[in-house]
Amino acid sequence: MTKTMAKERGIHSAEQIVESFSRCTRNGFVASDLEGKITYFSKSMEDITGWFEIEVLGKDVSTIYSLPEAVIDATDNSGALPQPGVVYKRDGKKVTYPARRTTICSEDSSEIDGYLTLFVTNIGDVDRAQAEFTSTVSHELRTPITSIKGFASTLLDHRSKLDEEKRKKYIRIIREQAIRLSSLVEDLLSVSRLESRKIKISKQKVDIQAAIERTALVVQSKYNDSHKINITEKSKLPSVWADPDRVEQIFTNLIENAIKYSPEAEHIDIEVSPDTLDGVEMIKTDIIDFGIGIAEEDQERIFNKFGRLDNPLTRETEGTGLGLYITKSLAEIMSGEVRVSSEANKTIFSVYLPTNLEQEEN
Ligand code: ADP
Repeated sequence: MTKTMAKERGIHSAEQIVESFSRCTRNGFVASDLEGKITYFSKSMEDITGWFEIEVLGKDVSTIYSLPEAVIDATDNSGALPQPGVVYKRDGKKVTYPARRTTICSEDSSEIDGYLTLFVTNIGDVDRAQAEFTSTVSHELRTPITSIKGFASTLLDHRSKLDEEKRKKYIRIIREQAIRLSSLVEDLLSVSRLESRKIKISKQKVDIQAAIERTALVVQSKYNDSHKINITEKSKLPSVWADPDRVEQIFTNLIENAIKYSPEAEHIDIEVSPDTLDGVEMIKTDIIDFGIGIAEEDQERIFNKFGRLDNPLTRETEGTGLGLYITKSLAEIMSGEVRVSSEANKTIFSVYLPTNLEQEEN
């Protein structure tokens, strides 16, 4: 069709084009006015979030997404690299996509009327996971850094006005936050080594009972013997074929979690027994606590990176949300597995490690 023929049939309006564009791309668009109220919500945003346009029109954009400050501060960042934006879905879940924002101008282009935010949703899972990871890591690092900066500045600027008690308290907070920062960096390094397969694993015969006893003692003293740990071995068991340091890393994390998430309980049970997994001979170690429990629908995502649950105890308990991801990955690298089952006030983390006599003999 020639241009003249197109003209004869009438020119498409901007709305028609936007509407069709929105239908044929999987990227999501949200337009908002200068007060941050939603004025347009694309079909793909409906698909991603589960909200219908009719429900969100006029609502504040913060109910649907949040953007990094760098995106909000720039009037127009359409030319810049996309930054991770968090989209809140109807089911309460959050998902991160690279986001960009540009201005919407008045018809005569003299004034800014609002903003159009683009969420790049047609990226692959790997890119999305990367965006999510960057966003969460920046957030997790920012919290302790802000607190260290704040208390260090107060100490420097108002030292003479603070009594000894306050000074000590602030210094203690700085130390705690520095420890939190360093354990986060350690965990991130473990994640990076695991994912790039650069983690060193040197397998040998490991006496699981002895490894558990050693780990339990160390963890117990870290938590001032808050819980008694009862270890039962079903029978005399063969050694497992694994890396002894990694085995202790696995048990340290699981016993620490059992203590952290059962503050009211007085004891933790550990049961070691022979078992099989997919026909392979294993030693199964159950770490059993009598704490808050984990709802069935949350049992998968606690093994994700930063998969912390939204409950009061988790909020007030120190943690990076990387422990279980590292624990499960380590067990898998050693041909084992970590599983969870939980009912009201009883949680069992089961660690499977192979006895694998064949390799032992080599
Ligand atoms: P964290 O550093 O937060 O402890 P983990 O990866 O070890 O990270 O655990 C992920 C989340 O799983 C925790 O934040 C907590 O919400 C939940 N969780 C882990 N272990 C237990 C447990 N024994 N009982 C109840 N919840 C648990």
